[in-house]
Amino acid sequence: MLFDTHAHLNDPKFADDRDQVIRRAREEFGVQTIINVGYNRETIRTTLELAEAYDFIYAAVGWHPHDAKDCTEEDLAWIRELTEHPKVVALGEMGLDYYWDNSPRDVQAEVFRRQIAIARETGYPIIIHDRDAHEDVVRILKEEGADEVGGVMHCFGGDLAIMEECLRLNFMIGLGGPVTFKNRATLPKEIARNVPLDRLLLETDCPYLAPHPYRGKRNETGYVRLVAEAIAELRGITFEELAQATQENAKRLFRLP
Ligand SMILES: [Zn+2]
Ligand SMILES: [Zn+2]
Repeated sequence: MLFDTHAHLNDPKFADDRDQVIRRAREEFGVQTIINVGYNRETIRTTLELAEAYDFIYAAVGWHPHDAKDCTEEDLAWIRELTEHPKVVALGEMGLDYYWDNSPRDVQAEVFRRQIAIARETGYPIIIHDRDAHEDVVRILKEEGADEVGGVMHCFGGDLAIMEECLRLNFMIGLGGPVTFKNRATLPKEIARNVPLDRLLLETDCPYLAPHPYRGKRNETGYVRLVAEAIAELRGITFEELAQATQENAKRLFRLP
């Protein structure tokens, strides 16, 4: 009954065993639903292929800040058009990445704002990528009225004060592998303990960010179970309780039956 709200199963790292990884997630780890995230021309295309091939895989489509410099008007029009696709449930991932700075910051901001506008026009929730850019992300979300549609702060890396701001802006908090890391600063764990249970989502971001004990290896969508176990323990609730609450949250946000 687990829901992985952020996967990149179309990644070439799954080229040799994609179907096995997906099967294993369902049969061994109890993953029921997956949202695969496309973030540029190529990955949007392959995300849609996956969502069309598996009934329990849904698609999010958007433009990553890394690729903002390559985003054209045609691309934005295409993303808008794709909101009509029956398996598309969210827009993103979109946002700002000041760690890698692969695109100029003003271009990242512009592409981010344009996508929030599309989300508001079409009524879709948004998936936010925020790396070392909390202040500007929150400011843009406010300025663009993103609270009207809400969404998720994926792989949330902020502190409690930023979490509160995001909650006020109608966003949920997505947590993944870092809550399981043994030698990591306690911020993700602190968030896992304090985020209201009705605003928490689970994710893997696979093939990246594998949880302990697979840290540094290829992540799999099934490992969302390890994330769920770690958060349940941190909060002192049962795995079943945590799994059920996060699944209900995801279904509510992405409007799934
Ligand atoms: Zn991301
Ligand atoms: Zn991602």
